[in-house]
Parts: sequence; C-alpha cells; structure tokens
Amino acid sequence: MAARQMGYGVHVYSPDEASPAGQVASYEMVGEYEDLDALAEFCQHIDVLTFEFENVPVVATNRAESIVPVHPSGHVLHTTQHRLREKTFLQANGFPVTACLAYPDAIPVGFPFPAVLKTAGFGYDGKGQVRVASATELLAAHAFLEFQPCVLEAWVGFERELSMVACRGFDGAFAHYGLFENSHSKHILDLTKTHPDVPGRTLVNAEAITRGIFEALEIVGTACVEFFLKPGGELLVNEIAPRPHNSGHLTIEAAPASQFEQQLRAICGLPLGDSTLRTAAAMANLLGELWEPNSPKWPSLLEFPGVHLHLYGKQEARPGRKMGHITSLGNDSESAAVQVIRARQSLIS
Ligand code: AMP
Repeated sequence: MAARQMGYGVHVYSPDEASPAGQVASYEMVGEYEDLDALAEFCQHIDVLTFEFENVPVVATNRAESIVPVHPSGHVLHTTQHRLREKTFLQANGFPVTACLAYPDAIPVGFPFPAVLKTAGFGYDGKGQVRVASATELLAAHAFLEFQPCVLEAWVGFERELSMVACRGFDGAFAHYGLFENSHSKHILDLTKTHPDVPGRTLVNAEAITRGIFEALEIVGTACVEFFLKPGGELLVNEIAPRPHNSGHLTIEAAPASQFEQQLRAICGLPLGDSTLRTAAAMANLLGELWEPNSPKWPSLLEFPGVHLHLYGKQEARPGRKMGHITSLGNDSESAAVQVIRARQSLIS
C-alpha cells in the first residue's frame, strides 16, 4: 500500500491465492517458492524484489538474485530464518545473546537450566518451542519437536521485551523509531507501546546493537531487532526479523514515514523518510479467536475516537492467526494502550 501510494506498481509472488498483499497489488502470481521457473518468469517483470516473510528458501532467493536486485539480500534471510545460524552470527560478531547451543549435536554439560528448546528452522510466534526445567526433560522435549535440529537457549528472566524497528539505505543511511515495548500472550505478540520507561542508556545501547547488526548483515530495507531487557539493565538480542515487523505497525499512524514506506524508499534507492514519532501510540493485535463464536462487533470498536482499524483480508480466522490490528495515538503510551485494550474488548463484550 505504501508503494502504490507513491506511484509504484506492485507484483506479488505468493503460494496462496488472494494473499493479503496480493489483494492490493497490481499483479499477483501464485507459485511455490521452490518453483524456480515460475519465480524466474515473475522476476522478468520487476525492477526490485523484497519480502514480507523470511521463510523463503535460499534456492529461491539465489534464483531471484541472478535476475533482479533483491533487498534485503538472500544471505540476510538465510542467516535470520534459522535460529542456529542467527545465534552463531550474533555471537561471532559480539552481539549479546543468552547462552545457547546446537541440540542434539552439542552435549549440554553444565548448561544453565531452565531453558527453552526451539526448532532451528521455520519457527515464529513461539511455534516449535518447549520450555525445559532440567536436563532430564530434554529428550521428551526433543521428541515433542519430532527430533528436529534444535537450539537450546537458557531461559531469560527478563523484565521487559523490547524491539527496535529500523531501516538502512544503500548508502548506509540509518533511521529508527526508538524502542517499543512488547507484551506477548501464548508467545504471540499481543500489545506494543511506544516510549517505554527505560533509562536513556538502554536506548543508546539498543541503537548501537541494532545499527551494528544492520551493518554486519549489510541489510538494505526495514528490519526489527527483538530484545530481552534484564532486571539489571542488560540487553540481550532475542531475534532479528528481516522485514517490517508487527511491533512496527503503529508507525503507519505514529510516524511521518511508516516502516513500510521506509522499506520502499530503501529498496528503491531513495532517501529514507522521517522516523521521528509524532506522538505516543499503542497497537493491539486481533487474533483469530476474536471471531469465535461470532464475528467481532466492528461498530462497537469504531465508536472509539482515534482508534485505527487494520484488517489484512485473510480468508479464514483461526485461533492464534493474526487477522489484523488496531492502533491508538495518545499523549502518552499508557493511555493509548488503555484505549486499544478497551476498544478490542468491545469487539466481544
Ligand atoms: P521467539 O519466537 O523465539 O521470539 O519466542 C517467542 C516468545 O517466547 C518471546 O517473545 C518470549 O516471550 C518467549 N521466549 C523465547 N525465548 C525465550 C527465552 N530464552 N527466555 C525467556 N523467554 C523466551
């Protein structure tokens, strides 16, 4: 939508017909990511390719890169779509992460428990994760994850979860929206607030880490770094999302240039826009369970002044599926959060 607004044609390649992006595109092509001939044909008609989803196989990004500029590049996706490669990259470059090892390849002697066992590939929103209290539970947890290659991570007793959505241009220009504070429910993002009450040095550290990651990976485009903030003030990187991120959706209303517009500007070699937040804001996700047993009461939500509704046009509501979100602006992020929570509650009460 940001691209269409700025006069660009948009072609979408997706395994699903009538995908959310396809519904607003000028052209949608349905194909599997592994169908390299179809992908090559698609790439003949575009000037630049980007992603809104990182679990695209490296064979597909390699093929696309042989035909058209791809941003962020396939190697960024390859590193970040696999938890072990991602953690190895972060550790090798000196970015702070919780203790972790490859399981079952490495033997966890002396590993600090409790921990969480996560499948190395294709995980998101807490899918493919099991908490393990001690080494004796590891085998059962691994069986539950169907004996896939995993990462064992020490559990972080975090004070808050934070994220920084940022963008980097071809020329190295860098812009970010400050820190966002995120709360999760069942491992799925539930609520994001701007302007978390954290010391100034936390923001400075987060910016340095985020910028360092963008530079080390040579990211061109929008991406998000998710952090754990520990009680003593230490920041650990949880993961990197190499695309516009759910916690950045509130930038549509709260910033002069949204995370999507920044993505467009970066991949088209244009100057980055202004990412200074105009105001405080909060965002609440709308998950599929709100559709059960009956459709949400949209008129009730729309009674709330200043609440912005976004529905993605997904064909089927399922529990845990992100169907849309709502954003509220406010003088402070607490009052904006109260407003979005009340508005969302009105959908079902
Ligand atoms: P992920 O998909 O890895 O981002 O995990 C989803 C959510 O699970 C995170 O946002 C945290 O709330 C929680 N989580 C994941 N890993 C850890 C960890 N090592 N320690 C504590 N909480 C975690």
